[in-house]
Amino acid sequence: MTFRTIHAALLVAASFCFTSAQAFDIGGAISAGSKALKAATLSDADLKELTDQACQESDKTSKIAPAGSKYDARLQKLGKQLGDKIDGQAANYKVYLTDDVNAWAMANGCIRVYSGLMDMMNDDELLGVIGHEIGHVALGHSKKAMQTAYGLSAARDMADASGNSTVKGLNSSQLGDLTEKFINAQFSQSQESASDDYSFDMLKARKLNLQGLVTAFQKLAKLDGGKSDMMSSHPSSTDRAKHIEDRIAAGK
Ligand SMILES: [Zn+2]
Repeated sequence: MTFRTIHAALLVAASFCFTSAQAFDIGGAISAGSKALKAATLSDADLKELTDQACQESDKTSKIAPAGSKYDARLQKLGKQLGDKIDGQAANYKVYLTDDVNAWAMANGCIRVYSGLMDMMNDDELLGVIGHEIGHVALGHSKKAMQTAYGLSAARDMADASGNSTVKGLNSSQLGDLTEKFINAQFSQSQESASDDYSFDMLKARKLNLQGLVTAFQKLAKLDGGKSDMMSSHPSSTDRAKHIEDRIAAGK
């Protein structure tokens, strides 16, 4: 959550924070102020429970590459190179079979990579992208995004009369709405940049190829024409590639 880009074939805005264009949920944004207040009452335990449920529901409604399939084997291999824990949580990698270009990670270690992204990236590039998503988790962005998604979602309406939130007994439709809002969440420009740097540092510490992060951005720049959406505060893919190139050149 991400890179985002326009999926050329379907003209569907995929929620990938690496690029740009994304429809902005005006209605949701307007009501966000009051709802976000209540969402702030979610405890860490509730948030974890909510995230577990959201991940499970997302899996249930997605086409998952079977264990041992080509896509799954490739992702598991890449995952091992990045470590089996993210932010203290066991990393759980799955491929969603879809043409959309996307990847995201939830704070509970639920990492999902879409086959449309895997088709356009080589292994080094995927490591860079996944490292970026892991960065969002490690830096607390994913947790915040889930909390915000909850505040904007129908799930929030489960709050009882006294305003206490509850994460128990959410139905599929509420969880689906929550997950969609999480996946489409906009990260700020500084969050995106920080996650890019996190990925760079992680790749470097593990002695992995740093150039993949550059070419991943360059490929995404081609998809989004190298420009950020005007409504988005995201740095453009071109600028992000340049930043990583500068760091490689500087050797740090
Ligand atoms: Zn991102």
